[in-house]
Amino acid sequence: MKILVINAGSSSLKYQLFEMLDKVVIAKGLVERIGIADGKLTHRYGENGKFELDVDMKNHTVAMEHVLEALMSPEHGVIHSIDEISAVGHRVLHGGEKLTKSIIIDDYVEQVIEEYFPLGPLHNPANLMGIRACKAIMPDTPMVAVFDTAFHQTMPPKAYLYGIPRKYYENLGIRRYGFHGTSHRYIAGEIVKKPGLTQGSRVIIAHLGNGSSLSACVDGKCQDTSMGLTPLEGVLMGTRSGSLDPAVVQFISERESMTATQVVNMLNKESGLLALSQRSSDMRDVYTGAEEGDKNCQETLDVWAYGVKKYVGAYAAAMGGLDALVFTAGIGENDYRSRASVCEGLEFMGIKIDARKNEALRGVEGMISAEDSKVQVWVMPTNEELAIARDTLSLVTAEAQ
Ligand code: ADP
Repeated sequence: MKILVINAGSSSLKYQLFEMLDKVVIAKGLVERIGIADGKLTHRYGENGKFELDVDMKNHTVAMEHVLEALMSPEHGVIHSIDEISAVGHRVLHGGEKLTKSIIIDDYVEQVIEEYFPLGPLHNPANLMGIRACKAIMPDTPMVAVFDTAFHQTMPPKAYLYGIPRKYYENLGIRRYGFHGTSHRYIAGEIVKKPGLTQGSRVIIAHLGNGSSLSACVDGKCQDTSMGLTPLEGVLMGTRSGSLDPAVVQFISERESMTATQVVNMLNKESGLLALSQRSSDMRDVYTGAEEGDKNCQETLDVWAYGVKKYVGAYAAAMGGLDALVFTAGIGENDYRSRASVCEGLEFMGIKIDARKNEALRGVEGMISAEDSKVQVWVMPTNEELAIARDTLSLVTAEAQ
């Protein structure tokens, strides 16, 4: 059975075609600059196969036509007919409070994704365009929506309510939603299968990439997470500031004659590692800078690690203890220095890593805690696309029965 996973952005579209029998990706690719001049499709297949096509695409439907052509091409394709694709799983940013689980897409689901445009103004419209493009070309193929917010919907009100007048929650839906939910859910499901851990284990998942978020999970369910109404809240990220005093927005807006929207754009796109290091949004470059003696870069690393460490402490307190800490995503999976700096000094709460194990692990799964660590510390590569494909498969199989 083959499942196509689609992640549509406003001018881009990523895809992966899974063979679900052995859970492998048989082809994947990226379409860029949809609706803009100089469009491009990059299609990868087999061991090292790569096909590139420069073509202008006026909308997502045209982009999807090119994707399907590439998938079915006699030269670089992997299927013979559209009918071989059993279902399509779509990544959707915001399901709000109405769509709290992955779901088969029907008119109601499309309507709710649209209703939440104000909560995900960049992503939800693009996600819906991706869904409609696929439906236009593959009208008989079942489609499933998998939401970035869904996993966090188990948070209790004490974790998701902001201390502002209730009318803003009740009328405008302003609350903590959290993101990266598919990644957190995937890791939460995998970690409790490890020896010494159980379904009831208290787990902190540190998804540390260009965008970063932490979650506190008990019984495989989210109790709290660091991102909020939007992905801007929480720890320092590549170009996002993370949490700060909201009065900063007003202060900068008045002093610099900027609108609130401009300030928030600055906090999303021109802040974080990039702004503090004055060098790069990429953690590797910040480390290089620090090694070269750049004080700004060293300070940036300190701010980053201190911020993540505070969430680890806070979530352990919120859960009344901790059984496992998992590092995932670009930084979490690949960078032993960042993992070491987050764990440093946390021996008092049972977190003790084995420096040799930590240094040896890059991009693969493994436990990095010392033999006598009370808390298991893991590195676990995330796989959001596989999680989307699994959900899609299980929903369409259930419906077919
Ligand atoms: P995104 O949020 O865009 O999905 P990723 O999870 O791919 O981001 O993480 C990307 C980030 O991971 C990069 O910006 C880089 O800072 C970091 N990263 C990747 N590899 C390494 C490494 N070996 N050492 C340090 N940082 C790394």
